[in-house]
Amino acid sequence: MFNIEESYLDSINHGQYKVIYNNLSPELKKHVKKRELKKIIKKYNSSNHILYSNFSINNIKHVVFISNNQKQGAYLAINNSNQIEGLFLTYLDAKDHAPTTSLKYYMPIDKQWTVFWGGNNKLVNYHYDIISQRYAYDLLIAHNGFTYLNEGRENDDFYAFNQNILAPLEGVVVDVRNNLPDNIPGNTDIEHPSGNYVIIRHTENEYSMIAHFKHNSICVSPGEKVDKNTIIGKCGNSGNSTEPHIHFQITDTPLPTNSCKSLKINFANLENPIRGSVVER
Ligand SMILES: [Zn+2]
Repeated sequence: MFNIEESYLDSINHGQYKVIYNNLSPELKKHVKKRELKKIIKKYNSSNHILYSNFSINNIKHVVFISNNQKQGAYLAINNSNQIEGLFLTYLDAKDHAPTTSLKYYMPIDKQWTVFWGGNNKLVNYHYDIISQRYAYDLLIAHNGFTYLNEGRENDDFYAFNQNILAPLEGVVVDVRNNLPDNIPGNTDIEHPSGNYVIIRHTENEYSMIAHFKHNSICVSPGEKVDKNTIIGKCGNSGNSTEPHIHFQITDTPLPTNSCKSLKINFANLENPIRGSVVER
């Protein structure tokens, strides 16, 4: 028997665009024309897939399938009425040659967190198309499939809010911003995408950046030495962030520069975490 995501994938593989269209959520239907969907589905010409990631959070199931030859992939977001809230069919990079960090890092947390975006393709990691952020992780905390208690209207409702953020390894702080307000959940500050952030130099070619700290919570300053157990601030909801979470990346130069490249992170205790992975340090 097919489960719902396999059944939708089967419809896509058989070009049954009407089945997919009829099962779009009312919100998505507003933005998609039937003939556009037909074109996209007919063009997606791949039949054998493996399940790559399956992750449920806040009543949405996020499923990624990759074709056997790894050239194509499908992402489906399905709500608890089995309607399709998101659909992305794409070709994937043939080979991914990005360098990995020379040092082994720790996730900058001291509890169990969940990877909301992260991994080595654009279906599991929305940062992927931005060279400077390609291998970044967005982390949040989930309990029983939810990132918040109550209604999730206030930052305090979210499990991640106000949690300790630690340095991912020893280094020297090179830049800090600490004065931006936390957004009301659902809103973002697109003028200041990183929000409050810390940048740490670990080697000449490896800099970590952690972003979206709580307003005025950062407790380290430029020039200060940190080690992997140093608490550097608290998780917040500043910058381009719709709910409390942190963004963690390693680049080859300190930001902000246009030429800086994101590095694949070599972790001390983790094996290639991707979207949906539950991680600890
Ligand atoms: Zn991010």
